[in-house]
Amino acid sequence: LYRAKAEGRGTHRAFAAQAETEARQTRDIKFALNNDLDLGAFYLEYQPIVALATGHATSVEALVRWDHPQYGVLRPDLFIPEAEHSGAIIPIGRHVLAIACDFAATLPDEVSVAINLSAVQVHDAGLIETIANNLARNALAPGRIVFELTETAILNITPETVATLDGIKALGCRLSLDDFGSGFSSIATLYYVQFDRLKIDRTLIHDAMGDCRRRAILRNITHLAREIGMRVTGEGVESEQMKTALTDLGFDHGQGSLFSPALRDAALHDWLNYRTQALPDDTAA
Ligand code: C2E
Ligand code: MG
Ligand code: MG
Ligand code: MG
Repeated sequence: LYRAKAEGRGTHRAFAAQAETEARQTRDIKFALNNDLDLGAFYLEYQPIVALATGHATSVEALVRWDHPQYGVLRPDLFIPEAEHSGAIIPIGRHVLAIACDFAATLPDEVSVAINLSAVQVHDAGLIETIANNLARNALAPGRIVFELTETAILNITPETVATLDGIKALGCRLSLDDFGSGFSSIATLYYVQFDRLKIDRTLIHDAMGDCRRRAILRNITHLAREIGMRVTGEGVESEQMKTALTDLGFDHGQGSLFSPALRDAALHDWLNYRTQALPDDTAA
């Protein structure tokens, strides 16, 4: 009993210490985002988005990481919300756009780069010009860049939002509706903006695997998407079984650890080279 009590106290202390560490980390992250932001510490990893029928990547999604001086490499979920709140997402987003477009120029023409955009960026008056400048600097065909927007990024679909998204399409870039089904999916989003791609959220995919009612919903969403000219990507594909299920449900693309995690520049190039060289042999065998 004594020991259990002592252990209980120990566990309690450990929890308290951990909570304190996390609170300090959150404070430090906020501070670093809002004071002398060092953009050089932000870099991108790229995760292949694969055509289920061929196994080839048709695009790669740029995912930002922050190499924080104290805390090491931080995932976006830890700093993007605060960056959106404070406005730091504007310089970070410009930096992301610049490196992603530079990288796109190093990839084969048939591989596009998908870039995530926050609501704050969509409301930035300079967005279209910034995109155009990055395309021009790299002599990139605009179709090589896809912008991913979440439902929350366009939650209040105003005429201004529609105009900005139309402006992006007018440049020749493509639009993707990200994390579809995870938030407040609204018909208006699909109604007023012509998305080229639909990405179904990882949680929905996972929760549909053993459930035929949910699979029927997904099957009808892919059907709707096809009818209005959208390609459909399943997120978080982690097994062959999931890949097969998605193919049966009418998905045409998948992204997830089954194909590849997010990779740095050189590793992504290696992955693409390996895939394109290895596949003809595979099919011949
Ligand atoms: P997202 O756009 O939905 O990106 C996909 C996330 O799922 C990535 O997390 C990716 O690493 C993760 N993922 C991919 N495959 C699998 C899998 O098989 N299993 C599991 N469990 N997870 C998988 P990440 O890199 O942590 O990014 C999180 C979110 O942060 C992104 O979600 C995106 O909304 C946001 N984000 C990332 N980069 C940027 C950026 O440059 N700008 C903005 N505004 N947001 C960004
Ligand atoms: Mg995304
Ligand atoms: Mg997503
Ligand atoms: Mg997601």
